[in-house]
Amino acid sequence: MAKEKKGEYRDVGKIAIYPGSFDPITYGHIDIIERALEIFDKVIIAIAENAEKRPLFSAEERLQMVKTIFKDTPNVIVDSFKGLLVDYVAKTNAKVSLRGLRATSDFEYEFHMASMNRSLNTHLDTLFMMTSKDYFFVSSRTIKEVARLGGGVEGLVPDLVVRRLKEKFKLPVAKRKQIGWDD
Ligand code: ADP
Repeated sequence: MAKEKKGEYRDVGKIAIYPGSFDPITYGHIDIIERALEIFDKVIIAIAENAEKRPLFSAEERLQMVKTIFKDTPNVIVDSFKGLLVDYVAKTNAKVSLRGLRATSDFEYEFHMASMNRSLNTHLDTLFMMTSKDYFFVSSRTIKEVARLGGGVEGLVPDLVVRRLKEKFKLPVAKRKQIGWDD
């Protein structure tokens, strides 16, 4: 049982890592981060470089976008990592990996990943936060699909991301096919 002495456990579990592809970051992600900051002192956004074989945005582009979006939020650290999340976490003081859940369809994959990560590192716990009612239908994947077809994604992703998506999809179709975006 924890002792009640004030401040005694101040530094325990105050850093959370939020890992993901963030290809691109959406207001669904940002909502989770803002709510996590009510619980944790610091959130490290850890952009996975190898989560997808062919992301739309390079790791560097994703890193720059997320850094710009959180440039005025000192308790958010933006970083990228390659390889296993548990190896990256080991380099930090974080004990919690943060993930968002949108629907029951997310659950099975997340449950397996959380169990696997816990088996690789028994000190790492995964904390799930439920999506908010405004963003339950928002995923990076659908944002890319809609933007590619010319639909508006304003209000679902920050303005910077809207602009970057427009730039990407302005490329001629032949060029897009060449680099595999239209597959
Ligand atoms: P990954 O490729 O690791 O799933 P994503 O960038 O797609 O990375 O997502 C990172 C985390 O954010 C995941 O746990 C995902 O379920 C969660 N997430 C994505 N979109 C939303 C949303 N609209 N609301 C809540 N959580 C979300």
